[in-house]
Amino acid sequence: MEGQRGSDRRDDQLLEAAALGGLREDLVPAREQALQLLAGRPVRGDRVGIAWLRSTCGACSFCTTGRENLCEASTYTGWTHDGGYATHCCVPEAFAHVIPPEFDDTEAAPLLCAGIIGYRALRRSQVPRGGRLALFGFGSSAHITLQVARHWGCTVYAVTRDAAHRRLALDLGARWAGGTHEALPERVDAAIVFAPAGGLVPVALQSLQKGGTVALAFALAHPERISKLVVSDAAAAFPPEGRQAFAVMAEKVAEGGLGSIAEIAAKRVFSPAYLAAHPEKIEERKNVLLAIDPKAFQAACKILQETDLVPQLHRLKVPTLVVCGEFDQATPPALNKQIVEKVAGARYIELPGCGHCPPLEQPKQFLAAIGDFVGL
Ligand SMILES: [Zn+2]
Repeated sequence: MEGQRGSDRRDDQLLEAAALGGLREDLVPAREQALQLLAGRPVRGDRVGIAWLRSTCGACSFCTTGRENLCEASTYTGWTHDGGYATHCCVPEAFAHVIPPEFDDTEAAPLLCAGIIGYRALRRSQVPRGGRLALFGFGSSAHITLQVARHWGCTVYAVTRDAAHRRLALDLGARWAGGTHEALPERVDAAIVFAPAGGLVPVALQSLQKGGTVALAFALAHPERISKLVVSDAAAAFPPEGRQAFAVMAEKVAEGGLGSIAEIAAKRVFSPAYLAAHPEKIEERKNVLLAIDPKAFQAACKILQETDLVPQLHRLKVPTLVVCGEFDQATPPALNKQIVEKVAGARYIELPGCGHCPPLEQPKQFLAAIGDFVGL
């Protein structure tokens, strides 16, 4: 499916859902579909599939560097355009994927959405062939990813709340399947978090062997599955001076361990007034920082330097509330307001006198700020 985009783009192609008869709607969501090509190329009569990513501009810095999934002008099947439940639909030729004859429609359709997401996450996880991989969340993407990983000779561990999903994971060849509060039997080389639950990220990090990688697949791939979003004291990207600060911190930690930055990093979490009233909080935060693997801390600094989610913010179409502490030094109000500006309809609440972590420093005010919005 790669390598045929770009200059060779032609007009939309008309597709007929001739293959739909064999598919059950409850098995095949609207955005993954095998269809019959009625006119144009690849070749009339070819059986092709259309994926979630329906088109991109082909010219921007993302499209021309193999990262078209980040294109600002991208469109989506079943979201910006009619999808697989339609009797006919149009798709640019470069995004009509010819289905090899060895796949039947029901086998091919899931590969076009869940399969693509899972495969990309698997590639990004950098799990080596024959390595150990943990999957957090075990839905449609993960169950395909598991089969590819097994084909690569990997040992796979599945973490999921659902007992039926744990059984399916074992049936498909997982070495172990457990709940979210069970420890993995051994450390893994890579972990993929499919579940849209931020709380799983630290759990996944804990499961890693040194130098391991966690890939977050869900939130940006499926913004439509979020019904409401509360963002607190966050940044979609850091300005140059912020990036420089992360570079300096990573350097210091490389030379002198977490101890060299623990005090200053701990102080940046709270407002000066709160710290004056609760000096013991510095020790508490320092201990949290000192428990972090320096390599993981350096890797996190690198990610924070490089991350730029600003071009993707406009994709968030869900009601969004941004809450920020007035004296947040880590992600100041200006960075939070940048998110508000780019997300249509987003609201902003600033907590007077508060630092970077409102849930720790002003828990009551924080709950009051988000209460109406989330329906507490
Ligand atoms: Zn583009």
